[in-house]
Amino acid sequence: MKKVLVLTTGGTIAMNEDLSTGTVQPVSKNLLSSYLPSLSQYADVEMEEIFNLPSPHISCRHLEQLAIIVRSRLADERISGLVITHGTDTLEETAFFLDLQLPPGKPVIVTGAMRSSNELGADGPINLLNSIRTAASEEAVGKGVLVVFNDEIHSARFVTKTHTSNIATFQSPSVGPIGSIDKRSIHFRQMPLEHAHFPIDAIDCSVGLLKMAMGMDSRLIDHMVADGLKGLVIEALGQGNVPPEVVPGIRKAIEAGVTVVLVSRCFNGLVQDVYGYEGGGKHLREIGAIFSNGLNGQKARIKLMVLLSYTHDLAFIRNAFED
Ligand code: ASP
Repeated sequence: MKKVLVLTTGGTIAMNEDLSTGTVQPVSKNLLSSYLPSLSQYADVEMEEIFNLPSPHISCRHLEQLAIIVRSRLADERISGLVITHGTDTLEETAFFLDLQLPPGKPVIVTGAMRSSNELGADGPINLLNSIRTAASEEAVGKGVLVVFNDEIHSARFVTKTHTSNIATFQSPSVGPIGSIDKRSIHFRQMPLEHAHFPIDAIDCSVGLLKMAMGMDSRLIDHMVADGLKGLVIEALGQGNVPPEVVPGIRKAIEAGVTVVLVSRCFNGLVQDVYGYEGGGKHLREIGAIFSNGLNGQKARIKLMVLLSYTHDLAFIRNAFED
């Protein structure tokens, strides 16, 4: 029987609801260990608590620690695969960070729950079970970090949280899930084509994320640059355009040495240098903005933090986003 290690980091999957007030909060004992007896028919499962945090409390320092632990547990030849339980709010960021840190190899599955453990219809147990089955599956080998949730398997690069409360919250815009899970089997239907790998020991978190909206100007960017930001991800409008009043801020940021990456605030599609007007994508590329290859804002921020910690070579960073 394959050995699967579950690393717990907290999140709703490890929380309880106070039934009198409806408030959901962390508990001190490891709730997930109570599921171990029912999981034993699928794999030889061990559990290790790493953190017990709501995922909005996960920081860059936690990501560094997690990467060290994940690398060392994967190096243990007795372990066939890892499952990481995590709060759903920032799950996609941790999953994508780990994907950028690990060469494709043994399965690493990230999962969580939308309903706490004592709520009727709790989704934690089934998400955990499906993750363990996927981590023990030969087919999951070499596919990069995966997110298993609500009977679906998603690639860490594309998956995002799309709903505040629905258990079908995790989706992969434009590409869809790469597989699905039912009672009898695990079905992979797509193979991720690309895998980027930029291993680092420490992550520099000084990268901002700013969403564009009608009528904005440069003031927030000016403040961020004055504050010593090293990188800035701009969630631009449509195919990668900003109001003209934002252009001076972007230009000054680039001149000050800030690496500026453009993504779109649209849910689907890529940013491109199509529009040639003041603040249009073509204009922003001319002044030095980097275009991302379809990542959302929070993932582009993770990738830029990783790349700025990996190299000082701007051409390399540009290529890593635009290739
Ligand atoms: N707020 C919770 C967290 O991210 C949500 C969840 O786990 O579903 O920790």
